[in-house]
Amino acid sequence: ALRLAAREWRTTFDAIGDGVAVLNRNATVMRCNKTLTGLLGKGFKDIIGCDAHALMHAGKIQQENEKCSIQAMFETSRREKRIMNIDSRWFSVVVDPLFDERKHLIGAVHIMRDITEQKKIENNLIEETKFIESIVETAQALIVVLSRDFGVIGVNTFCENTLGYKRDEIIGKPWIGHFVPLDYQEELKKILTNCLAGTKIKGHEIPVLTREGAEVFISWHSAELKNAAGENIGIVSMGYDITQRKEIEKVQRLAQLGTLVSHMAHEVNNPLMIISGRAQIALAEKIENKEVERDMQVIINECQRAKDIIQRLLRFSRPSKGEIKLVDINQALDEVISLVEHQFGLANVRLGKNYQAGLPQVLADERQLHEVFMNLLTNAKDAIENEGGIEITTTAENSQVIIRFRDSGAGMSKELISKVFDPFFTTKEKGTGLGLSICYSIIKTHGGELQFESEPGKGTTVTIVLPVEQETVN
Ligand code: ADP
Ligand code: MG
Repeated sequence: ALRLAAREWRTTFDAIGDGVAVLNRNATVMRCNKTLTGLLGKGFKDIIGCDAHALMHAGKIQQENEKCSIQAMFETSRREKRIMNIDSRWFSVVVDPLFDERKHLIGAVHIMRDITEQKKIENNLIEETKFIESIVETAQALIVVLSRDFGVIGVNTFCENTLGYKRDEIIGKPWIGHFVPLDYQEELKKILTNCLAGTKIKGHEIPVLTREGAEVFISWHSAELKNAAGENIGIVSMGYDITQRKEIEKVQRLAQLGTLVSHMAHEVNNPLMIISGRAQIALAEKIENKEVERDMQVIINECQRAKDIIQRLLRFSRPSKGEIKLVDINQALDEVISLVEHQFGLANVRLGKNYQAGLPQVLADERQLHEVFMNLLTNAKDAIENEGGIEITTTAENSQVIIRFRDSGAGMSKELISKVFDPFFTTKEKGTGLGLSICYSIIKTHGGELQFESEPGKGTTVTIVLPVEQETVN
C-alpha cells in the first residue's frame, strides 16, 4: 500500500504543469518533478543534489544577487514571486517556505513556469508604447487627453511648454476651468460635448490660458477616445498655435481691403469731380430760381462730403503717405480735444488729462495721429451711455511714448476685442466700422502698437505705444 501511495504521489507530482523543486535550507535541490526537467532541459540526476542557484543561473552576478534574496526569503519566510532569465528564456518563480510538523523551517518549494512567450508580447507592447510616446513627445503640437468629464488625463511636452505649467500641475485639473479663457468656456463645453457624442471636430479655434495669464490662439482637432473594448473613455485634442497666422491674416485683410478701397475711391472720385464741377459752373451762371440755386449748393456740399469720406478711405488704404515730422504728443492731443470738448460736455462725458510734462517728441504724421485720437475719443464717447468720463494719460518709458484712453463706458468682451480691428465691423447703427481699422494701420505704419484692455460693464482702456526714435518711416 505504501509503495502504491508513493507511486501515486509521484505520478501526481509529475503531472503538475509547472516545474516544482523542493529545496533544503542550504538551497540544495532535494526533489523535483518531471516538468522541471523539461523546463531546464536537464535530467533528474543533473538537478537533484545540485545547488539551486547554480542550476538556475548562467551569469555569476545574477547568481550572487539571487543567493542574497533567497536567503532573505528564508529569514522572513515570505512567499515571494520573481521573474528570472535563464539561457534567454524567461521564468516566473514562486518561492514558498517549507516547514516540518513542529513548524521549523526546513527549506523551500520553488514553482517555475516558462513565460517567455508572454514576456515577448509584453516587450512588444513596451516597444510599441515607447514608439507612440516618442511620437507624442516629438510632435510640434499640443496634445491633450481629457476624461469624459473633461479632466486632464495627459498632455505632451509641447503643451506643457505652451501653457508654462509642469505636467503634474495640469493633470487631474478640469481643462475648461483652468486652461481656457472665461469667454470661450461655454463654446468649448459645447464642442467637447458634441465630441463625446462621436462627432469629430476640426479646426475649432479656442485660445489657452498660460500661467502668465496670456491667451495663445490654438486651432484644435478633437475626437473621442476609445479603449480596446470600443468604449468611449474621453477625448483627444490636438492643437496648433495660430497666433502668428491670425496676426498675418489681419494684416492681409487690411492690405486687401486697402487695395480695393483705393481702386474704388479713384473710380468714384472722377464722377464726383464732374458732378461738383458742373454744379459750380451752373452756380456761376445767374440762376433765377432760388430753390434751384440752393439745390446746386447742396450738390456741391454733398460732393465735398463724399470726397472727404473718400479721402479718409484713401488714407486708410495708404496710411504710409504723409508728412513726417517731430510731433509733440501732448499738444496733438490737446488740438483734438479742443475740437470735441464742447460736444462731449453736452453729452455728459467728462474729459480728464494726465500728461507727463516734457514728453519726448515722436516722428510721425501729425494729421494721421489726430485722426487716431479723434477715432479713439469718439469710440470712447459712444461707449458711454448716460454719463461718464474719459481719462487721457501720456507717459514715456524706455524710448517709447505711451498714450492711454481710459473710458468708463460699456466695455467689451474678449470676443468683441478680437473683432474690432476687422474693417466694417461695427456694433453701432450708424457706424462705419472703419475707425479702428484705420487707427490700427496708422499706428502699425508708425512702428507702434495698439492694444485694448476691457471688462464688460467696467470700461475700456486703449493703449497706443509709439517708438520715440525711428530712423525711417516708410
Ligand atoms: P465704429 O465706431 O464705426 O463702430 P470702430 O472700428 O471705430 O467702428 O469700432 C468698432 C467697434 O468696436 C464699435 O462698433 C464698438 O462696438 C467697439 N468699440 C470701439 N471702441 C470701444 C470702446 N472704447 N468701448 C466699447 N466698445 C468699443
Ligand atoms: Mg469708431
